[in-house]
Amino acid sequence: MANKQVEDEVPPYYQHNSLFPWQLSLWKQLYSNNIVADHFPHALLLSGVAGIGKKQLAFHLARGLLCQSPQENPQTGQIEPCQQHDSGNACRSCQLFSAATHPDLYHVTTPVDKKIIPVDDIRTLIQWSVLSSQLGGKKVIIIEPAEAMNPNASNSLLKTLEEPVADTIIILLTNKKQALLPTIRSRCRTIDIALPDNQSTLLWLSEKGLSEKKSTDPELMLSLSSGAPLLAFELSQGAQLEVRHLIIKQLLSVMTDSMDPVNVAETLFKQTKIKPAKGSQKKTDNKKLLISAYDIIYWFDSLLSDIVRLTQRCTQDTITNIDYYDSLQQLSNRLYLKKILQLTDSINKAYFEVQGQINVNLLFEKLLIDWKNCQK
Ligand SMILES: [Zn+2]
Repeated sequence: MANKQVEDEVPPYYQHNSLFPWQLSLWKQLYSNNIVADHFPHALLLSGVAGIGKKQLAFHLARGLLCQSPQENPQTGQIEPCQQHDSGNACRSCQLFSAATHPDLYHVTTPVDKKIIPVDDIRTLIQWSVLSSQLGGKKVIIIEPAEAMNPNASNSLLKTLEEPVADTIIILLTNKKQALLPTIRSRCRTIDIALPDNQSTLLWLSEKGLSEKKSTDPELMLSLSSGAPLLAFELSQGAQLEVRHLIIKQLLSVMTDSMDPVNVAETLFKQTKIKPAKGSQKKTDNKKLLISAYDIIYWFDSLLSDIVRLTQRCTQDTITNIDYYDSLQQLSNRLYLKKILQLTDSINKAYFEVQGQINVNLLFEKLLIDWKNCQK
């Protein structure tokens, strides 16, 4: 099996209904309009912020490109892979795709617990790319996140992009297009995917069960995730909201309750478990929240950004932490903007520092003392 899927459970992006409502017009533009005329580009770069469903779109495109019997959906008039209409009568390709065992799909991503796609993984992929299709149709390669390829890996891929193998389509996904080699970007057809409009996202979040009557108000979730629907949903499901409240309350206590910044730094440090990469949060058995140093830096940064906007008289709808609007508004009048901006610089450095061999407790102490000193 060429596919790198090793988990027992098939991830949702292999399912036939993986497309999100806000992707339908892009789907039409990319697939329905190209598949009939066989105009699909040999290399496609899907670019956009995290949490908008690029992976789901890429896998659905792959399904469509591999499908042996694409059909027109009588309701929408769009061409779609066959299983869209009749799950009991899907073609062999779509069946294999749904089981995550399609031999003509090759998915490259970062190895578990790694941030880099190593050059050897790209070399293996290149060897695979010149083999014949097992099912006699196209072959599809998905590389995500493309910015995780180190320079050697990127250079290895370049030759394949320059001299495409017939009937082999490469789909690259990126959250950081500028981090890719210009030569990689120039050899792909780039699709810049915008955030869906807030109305569509709010509707989708409501359909997923989020309600303003609960602590997972869709508008708050959307604001905290900068408009990215999947991040908004993920935030509503995990412990990250609780983590955020705890961190923000501790930070505000330095200003509002005159708490000693060194004590607050220590309190936060005691609750950290450093997971710099993604900071996915789970509750431990004794229900104590696990907080990473990265989380603290992230929400500190978010709070400071809001305060900067408020000191510049920006409106409420530009604020991320809308549920703390009143507190932040009052606080913003009592702080020096210049010192807040200096602290923002320190926070930007801290993102990198907490991933290295730094004394995190001392770092927090310094940041919290600087925070306290922002007061007029
Ligand atoms: Zn099919």
